[in-house]
Amino acid sequence: MRIFRCPRCRAEDISADAHPTRVLDNGVERPVFVCRNCYRAAELEFRIASQTADIGYVPLAIRDGLRQLRDFYRARLAAARTSDHQTRGMNPIRPDLGLLWPSFTFFPLAALAVLVFGAAGSDPVMIVIGLLLLAVNIAIVANQAYFTTLDIEGDAVVFRTNFGLHEERVPIGALQRIDAKRYPGAHSGVSAPFFVARGRDSTVKVNTKPYRLRSFAPFIALLRQANSHVELDPFWSRVAAGEDVSKEISLTPRSRW
Ligand SMILES: [Zn+2]
Repeated sequence: MRIFRCPRCRAEDISADAHPTRVLDNGVERPVFVCRNCYRAAELEFRIASQTADIGYVPLAIRDGLRQLRDFYRARLAAARTSDHQTRGMNPIRPDLGLLWPSFTFFPLAALAVLVFGAAGSDPVMIVIGLLLLAVNIAIVANQAYFTTLDIEGDAVVFRTNFGLHEERVPIGALQRIDAKRYPGAHSGVSAPFFVARGRDSTVKVNTKPYRLRSFAPFIALLRQANSHVELDPFWSRVAAGEDVSKEISLTPRSRW
């Protein structure tokens, strides 16, 4: 929270102890807030200035003073909320459903096929299997769309998925390295690169398959801003630099291991 100093002595923080008074600004009364120590003196200065300028001095009405205080604290709260949002920095990174759909189209098609054949043959078991497959597919998409987030919460990198049941976190201060590790995938290939944030004693692993890589760039920038010791491997260095990096790699016998 920003410190709000008394404009008269410029010493006291009045964020939580503001006293409403007035100053005469080119003959115009202007409300200001000062600290407790300055309050009497400031009001006296205003009174003297009013008399010197031949303006009738009227004591500050309690109602007016309270209204000014209310506005002062409302503005402080709004500012605190904004700066809080800035340290959080961003919205969480979420999977891109546009990337997600193609990889799941096989499942609803298979489910529909089972359903259609089941219905055509009046086979209740086939129909149930078809409905279950559809339900699984909807659950997968719903999980990715609404329950999978990579975010900074307080002082930690937090990844949540599986309807919020699975959570991984690494304190930003303990973050040492961000790797693009690939794991063995289907058809003796390898997976899309993972976003592996390694801390001292915990790790966050996120499969980037359903994500746009460029959405990681501001996230990594924020992490490095908070912890300048974080190392990036070549893949994530290129992503952080804003390069258009492909998730695909050509398989060599070595890359499978
Ligand atoms: Zn003061």
